[in-house]
Amino acid sequence: MSKILIVEDELAIAELEKDYLEIDQYEVELAADGNTGLEKAMNGDFDLIILDLMLPGMDGFEICKKIREEKNIPIIIVSAKKDDIDKVRGLGLGADDYMTKPFSPSELVARVKAHLARYDRLIGSNQKSNDIVEIRGLKIDKTARRVYLNGEEKIFTTKEFDLLTFLAENPNHVYSKEELFREIWDMESIGDIATVTVHIKKIREKIEYDSSKPQYIETIWGVGYRFKI
Ligand code: CA
Repeated sequence: MSKILIVEDELAIAELEKDYLEIDQYEVELAADGNTGLEKAMNGDFDLIILDLMLPGMDGFEICKKIREEKNIPIIIVSAKKDDIDKVRGLGLGADDYMTKPFSPSELVARVKAHLARYDRLIGSNQKSNDIVEIRGLKIDKTARRVYLNGEEKIFTTKEFDLLTFLAENPNHVYSKEELFREIWDMESIGDIATVTVHIKKIREKIEYDSSKPQYIETIWGVGYRFKI
């Protein structure tokens, strides 16, 4: 649900806007003066702000400027004075839209919807999704290098993570300890194939319910290990 902040000192207008937005399932908070408005805008996780210009305390011009220094969320400026709206445009304060009072609340809701949709698209296109391997309750986030078992994070060392990820990305393939050692540890590293055994044991303690009956990494006696899919 999108959260909207209305900064407006005329309670009747604020309540009317709130009612219309709530009918459309938006969560709405009100601020009746400039300082409260700025404080809420900076500290709350709002998706959009409807900002009146003439306010007690700090005015809308200043609030708009300060929000823009920190946040990219859409700001719709509303004012009774068309001159003020021209001034906002002129100052380039970074508002996304302007409405002159009186306006119809349904027009406001339509604009809110349009700006939220546009902002979502913008955010969506900038967000790179993480590279994730997911097998039966085990989730390996390769980008963040984190492992979760049924939603609970398990802490892995670098080599444990590399080994688990390598096996999980190559399931149903039996690897010998020598192969795994070559794959995960570089040539100069001190250690031998016993290192692999130790790491497999540590990984199992973190992801298996019962290490003697592993659900993920199977031991193929005399050969090596295989990740079950
Ligand atoms: Ca006002």
